[in-house]
Amino acid sequence: MTDNNTAKVALVTGGSRGIGKACALEFAKAGYDVVINYAGNDEAANKTVSEIKDLGQNATAKKFDVSNKEAAEAAIAEIVAEFGRIDVLVNNAGITRDNLFMRMKDEEWLAVINTNLNSAYFVTHPVSKIMIKQRSGAIVNMASVSGIYGNAGQANYSAAKAGMVGFTKALAKELASRNIRVNAVAPGFIQTDMTKDLPVDKIVERIPLKTLGQPEDIAKTVKFLACDATYITGQVIGVDGGLVI
Ligand code: NAP
Repeated sequence: MTDNNTAKVALVTGGSRGIGKACALEFAKAGYDVVINYAGNDEAANKTVSEIKDLGQNATAKKFDVSNKEAAEAAIAEIVAEFGRIDVLVNNAGITRDNLFMRMKDEEWLAVINTNLNSAYFVTHPVSKIMIKQRSGAIVNMASVSGIYGNAGQANYSAAKAGMVGFTKALAKELASRNIRVNAVAPGFIQTDMTKDLPVDKIVERIPLKTLGQPEDIAKTVKFLACDATYITGQVIGVDGGLVI
């Protein structure tokens, strides 16, 4: 965060744990300064910031609820004041509130739609203005296999993730002329806190590669889409061990 800082800047929502943390570290390894966002777990966020700094990059953690429009806008303004630019945005923050649809409560539906889909609008709207001014940028949205083939017990989550796919494609068309690429990753089952209570053995039987994915598997693809895939936009890349073929 020095005045003469020239590093590119990546913002990863939900970047304190799991897939988002792996993305944050991957961008740091690629020479990016990194801003991670998180909701409540200060200890995890501080640990991730110090791991990024150990890689020689500037890092900061911004605690705000991505489903709160005002909070997101204020945080983006702070990031621009501190870092001067945002080159990569990863819309990764997400939650599950699984339930069969007949039993689903309004709170479960709304929490997931707000955190997993409306958040992408709240964060990307101010960030895209900055990228348009810069005339460059890359956005990677975290979808899911559930948003592509649906998952019983996850009507809320599947709807939000399918929404991310449509959002990605529409935005890719709108922003291409400004040299901004927009892509999505659709993870399968990845070993994080989100999946720690799932029946792993049963799930692995369904995965052609016969193992859960690791957060780093997703992070490498996110980094590829954001940094290396200079002629790819509007795509959804499945990273799922062959679950959806
Ligand atoms: P995770 O380990 O539970 O981590 C979630 C991250 O999101 C944490 O950093 C958390 O911060 C943050 N977060 C949650 N709600 C937030 C909010 N309202 N505002 C700001 N930050 C918030 O989850 P994960 O497994 O890494 O999942 C990351 C993304 O990948 C999600 O979008 C998820 O839907 C998607 N995905 C995951 C899998 C999988 O198998 N794990 C599969 C497909 C898609 P705190 O720690 O402070 O709460």
